[in-house]
This record gives sequence, structure tokens and C-alpha cells, in this order.
Amino acid sequence: MNRWTWALGKGLKAVLGLLVLILGMAGVFAVPASVATYPVVLPKGDEPRWVRGAFHVHTTRSDGRGTPEQVAVAAKTAGLDFVVLTDHNDFELRPPVYVQGVLLVHGVEISTSDGHLVALGMSRPLEGVRPWMPPGDAVRAVASAGGTAVLAHPVQKRNPWKDDASARQTPGFELYSADTFFRQATSNPMSRLLPAVGASLASPKHGVMLLVSPEPEPGARFLKLSREQPRVAFCAHDAHGLPHTGRSSSPWPHTCPRSRCRYRCLRTLLKRRSG
Ligand SMILES: [Zn+2]
Ligand SMILES: [Zn+2]
Repeated sequence: MNRWTWALGKGLKAVLGLLVLILGMAGVFAVPASVATYPVVLPKGDEPRWVRGAFHVHTTRSDGRGTPEQVAVAAKTAGLDFVVLTDHNDFELRPPVYVQGVLLVHGVEISTSDGHLVALGMSRPLEGVRPWMPPGDAVRAVASAGGTAVLAHPVQKRNPWKDDASARQTPGFELYSADTFFRQATSNPMSRLLPAVGASLASPKHGVMLLVSPEPEPGARFLKLSREQPRVAFCAHDAHGLPHTGRSSSPWPHTCPRSRCRYRCLRTLLKRRSG
């Protein structure tokens, strides 16, 4: 055996050893995941049932992989009632529509010069809105159109909300952002990604929940803003993919009591639907 063959054999053994170690570690996380339970919180007594949906989802109208119809089918498979679509800079005003029994609410994610702003529930077209506009003007335009503005992934390292004055004018705040959690996990592969992947082998729901590790920073910023006026906290998917089963949406729905649903369009349409 020459020196090169010997070195190649050693290298292969090291790679194999590392793979076995990583798989073994993933297996360690799979065991507790197989027994983890997530009890479903049901409405009490004669309270109306809770409405389940996904907030902040992209489609082929911007950089998402699924058409709105395909997203609706995936949402139906996941047992969701509504999806708020938020395509990048898609300013066309579209009324909410039922597709496959799922209410699609058309919002938009506006790229401003200081971060991304989600807007939903507009009753009039957004006037003068364009990509990379000043953030304060975007927030005011959403309010003038009768909509609700939401700071999208406000503390994400890659694309945070950088303007304090306009943040104070914005009623909504994404307290949880699945996209942000996923980015944090990929930048910490051993401590965050590996446990989640390992747990997913036994329970995809537990795998997703391991990614949802609340950071102190968003909570602190949300509380600081809420001292000035009440804010609405959102749990955002910021999904771009196309789930072929119900798995990727079902563990983490945005749920709200039907009786207390904040958005007029949702409340009215869901009431109409249920007769
Ligand atoms: Zn964004
Ligand atoms: Zn987005």
C-alpha cells in the first residue's frame, strides 16, 4: 500500500466516523421526541371553535414556490382555515377569496429602506407605495388604505427593522418568525439544527418546536413598544416553499378565537361561510 492509498483510507474512515457520530447524536434527540406530546387547547364549553391559519406566506407572485391555489391545497391538508399571503411588493388590491375551503387573505410584504413591512386588511388601494420607500411613508400609506401594518422579522440579523420612529407608529409586530428561527438554526448547526433534525426523525412537530427557541431580543423590543400603545403580536411562517403534505404548516398555526378575531375581513367572511 503506497502512502496516498493509506492517506485516502484514513480520510474515508474519518469522514465515515464523523457521519456515524452525527447520526448517533441525531438519534439521541429522536428518542425524547418520540414521547413528546403537544396537547391541543380546545375552546371551553359553548365557545365557538378556534380558527387556525398561517400568516406571512409567499407564492409564485413573488419568490414563493407554490401558486396561491397550491398553497390553499397544502393548507387544507394541514387543517387550516385561512392563509395570509404576503408576496413581496405585490401591491394589487385583491379581495379575500375561498379556495378549496381555505380563506386566502391577500396582504403584501413591502420592502422599505429600513426593513420589511407586512400590510393586510386594506379596503382601498395602497397609494404612492413603491419598493425601498421610506418606512414612515409606508406605514402611513397602509393606515390610509384602511389596513394593518406589521413589522416583519423585526430583529432578524439579515433584514431587521432599523427605524425606531416608524416602528412606534406600527400596530403589528412579528414576535415569532419561522424564517428567522431557521436562519438562527443554520448558523448554529450543532447546537440548534442537529437537535431539530434528529427530533424530526421521530416527530416533525417536535423538530419544529425545537427550532422555536424564543430569543430575548424580540420580546424585549415588543414589550418596549407596547408600553406606548397596545400592539398585536404575530406568529409568522414567512414560508416560501411548497409543502407537499400537511406537515410543515400543521405544527405551528396562527390560531385565534373566532369570536375575537381582529380582522374585519376574516371575521365577516368566516361568519358568512359558517352561515
Ligand atoms: Zn421579509
Ligand atoms: Zn416574507
